[in-house]
Amino acid sequence: MNTREMFAKAVAGGYAIPAFNFNNMEQLQAIVQAAAETKSPVILQVSKGARNYANSTLLRYMAEGAVAYAKELGWEHPQICLHLDHGDSFELCKDCVDMGFSSVMIDASSLPYEENIALTKKVVEYAHQFDVTVEAELGVLAGVEDEVSAAESHYTKPEEVIDFATRTGCDSLAISIGTSHGAYKFTPEQCTRDPKTGRLIPPPLAFDVLHEIEKKLPGFPIVLHGSSSVPQEYVDMCNKYGGNLPNAVGIPEEQLREAAKSAVCKINIDSDSRLAMTAAIRKHMAENPSHFDPRQYLKPAREEMKKMYIHKIVNVLGSDGKAE
Ligand SMILES: [Zn+2]
Repeated sequence: MNTREMFAKAVAGGYAIPAFNFNNMEQLQAIVQAAAETKSPVILQVSKGARNYANSTLLRYMAEGAVAYAKELGWEHPQICLHLDHGDSFELCKDCVDMGFSSVMIDASSLPYEENIALTKKVVEYAHQFDVTVEAELGVLAGVEDEVSAAESHYTKPEEVIDFATRTGCDSLAISIGTSHGAYKFTPEQCTRDPKTGRLIPPPLAFDVLHEIEKKLPGFPIVLHGSSSVPQEYVDMCNKYGGNLPNAVGIPEEQLREAAKSAVCKINIDSDSRLAMTAAIRKHMAENPSHFDPRQYLKPAREEMKKMYIHKIVNVLGSDGKAE
């Protein structure tokens, strides 16, 4: 299904839909099991990188398989969307629409404002012919999207959102209010330190900007990218078993919980799944040096990811029970 109904219900209900990226079977199994068990609508996200890594045709049929698998798990009417994450060209978005994706993102946020509008509009006009919903982006996130760290000037400008949404016809809007891509969302210099634990405390999200945007576009679906919380237990587990992830830091879950209650109706989580998987594999490898069957270490990795997805759905996004 596309995101239209999912988002309308999420905005009205004060919760957010999880958007989880997948690149492989174990991640997909964990996502589908978590969504089916909690009866949560879910967005399966495929990035350009995932298409390059796993093959775009294979990913598309894996997503189709995910719907059948969800039904087999006893979820009678699965609410699953297949979404392109960070489409960077009309051609890529068109390819995904033609392949059967139910939603695409065109991220032209690095282009000048008018060019962002023109490209987004072109994708919307094509996608809507096939009832495929389109996410656009306004403002620049730190991390993968940009080498420059998030500063005030990179936040989405609330005064632009009405014009942008009206002229592009996009169905949802990814905004920049201080979230960031990756497992190193902030430099230690941008953070303060907890005097007791020595852990980094990231700067708070710009809720004032979010509220301004909500006032301009009442009820319009807002999306947050780069919203992993980088659980310290996984960072510690990685580091304990031979990893080296110094100063990895994410967005505190309390802030995401607060955002989910607002017009934010889609929250993207990718790094937390990578961390859960790697932490579980490192632990298993260290404790079982004789194992060489990938199923032996991928099984606990899958279980750890599933636990993490369920936690996000129930305790952060509040989307459990919304797709009975
Ligand atoms: Zn993103």
